[in-house]
Amino acid sequence: MSEPLIQMKGITKSYFMGGNELQVLKGIDLTIHRGEYVAILGPSGSGKSTLMNIIGCIDLKTQGDYVLSSKNIEELDEDQLAEIRNREIGFVFQKFNLIGRYDATYNVQMPLLLKGENYHTSREHAKNYLEKVGLGDRMTHKPIELSGGQQQRVAIARSLVCEPNIILGDEPTGNLDTASGEEVMKIFRSLHHEGRTVILITHDQEIADEADRIIHIRDGLIEKDEVRRVPKTGL
Ligand code: ADP
Ligand code: MG
Repeated sequence: MSEPLIQMKGITKSYFMGGNELQVLKGIDLTIHRGEYVAILGPSGSGKSTLMNIIGCIDLKTQGDYVLSSKNIEELDEDQLAEIRNREIGFVFQKFNLIGRYDATYNVQMPLLLKGENYHTSREHAKNYLEKVGLGDRMTHKPIELSGGQQQRVAIARSLVCEPNIILGDEPTGNLDTASGEEVMKIFRSLHHEGRTVILITHDQEIADEADRIIHIRDGLIEKDEVRRVPKTGL
């Protein structure tokens, strides 16, 4: 198989509060290849979001080795970390985190504007991605004028606009009704079919069942790594 996209060895994460150490991740060994569709499943408080934030380079581990896209994360400075985050990773969270005063298109084009792309080009790209998530008729709606499921689709379009290889979803259907949740899961599967690496974090077995591989996490440790369908080679 190709070189792993994500390789973790002995990853720990501790928080220090009032002089006490709270160890949240207790030694995670994890390898994920390009194009995999993986769910990280575990109960609330098991360390899933902490792990996702480390995978996505928005937080740093306490100990252990993390290699992402052949780069040892420890050796990168802030700018290089920001660069790898922007280029490689799209985030989707449980809360949609859209900016209320902007319309759907502007919310989606923001990452491109931050990268210095011009208004018109970024707006065209944003529109393409809104169409892709089925919101072609909601481009100028503001978040408050959209349902929860539609807002999450805007957030997915925003996560895709910089064309990341990896999509990280932290309980992306957690705030949605069943039907909207299914819509969102369909989009994740289609992203997987396009060859992207999809990593979904969830406490819900039914959501995890959508993935090709389920990594069970409990009390900061991987309890079981379950391959359900053989992965295709990806991007
Ligand atoms: P999950 O996403 O599986 O519900 P988290 O990774 O969010 O779990 O949290 C795991 C544990 O780490 C929890 O006990 C939580 O209280 C603790 N924790 C998370 N973030 C922090 C933080 N910034 N400071 C202190 N403790 C934290
Ligand atoms: Mg969480």
